[in-house]
Amino acid sequence: MNIEKVIAEALEHGFTLAAPLDVSTFDPQQSVRDLCAAGKCRWFGKSWSCPPAKGSVEECGNELKEYSCGIIVQSTAELEDEFDFETIMELGDTHKENFKNFTAWLYDTYGCKMLPLASDVCNHCEECGYPEQPCRHPEIRLHPIEGYGILVSDLCRKNNVPASHGKDTFTYISCYLFE
Ligand code: SF4
Repeated sequence: MNIEKVIAEALEHGFTLAAPLDVSTFDPQQSVRDLCAAGKCRWFGKSWSCPPAKGSVEECGNELKEYSCGIIVQSTAELEDEFDFETIMELGDTHKENFKNFTAWLYDTYGCKMLPLASDVCNHCEECGYPEQPCRHPEIRLHPIEGYGILVSDLCRKNNVPASHGKDTFTYISCYLFE
């Protein structure tokens, strides 16, 4: 896996920043998962891609150890002001679309074992089948980073990547891990 080439391709696919990710910097924390359970995110217990369906923090940590390298990707936009929700929503849609397209490109190009860690819950289906029905597309399911107990700002700091690009900007952050 040529990480520099993957980074160049990530930028070609529309991300505003792409950088190497040192997988040894992952530090899954129960406290992050506790925030999910406390209702910080409305998807707890509502998706196969989120806790508790993701398994324990320890199981998530073991899964992350199966990967040897990775990249962080970001999409950043300038806001008119802190209430510029229209730009934030548009940026979120763009980031998700770029993430989906780049994930497909990576699978097609490398066909290797890969773990895309998304900025948001899996949205492949109009309504997630959790918990009554099995996941309809486990092979392309998206996995939110926080679901693994990872604090995204901490991960960025440890990899010398800014998690924020200043006042009146907004940034979506995702990762890709490769075997
Ligand atoms: S692929 Fe569908 S069923 Fe599976 S986690 Fe995503 S939304 Fe849920």
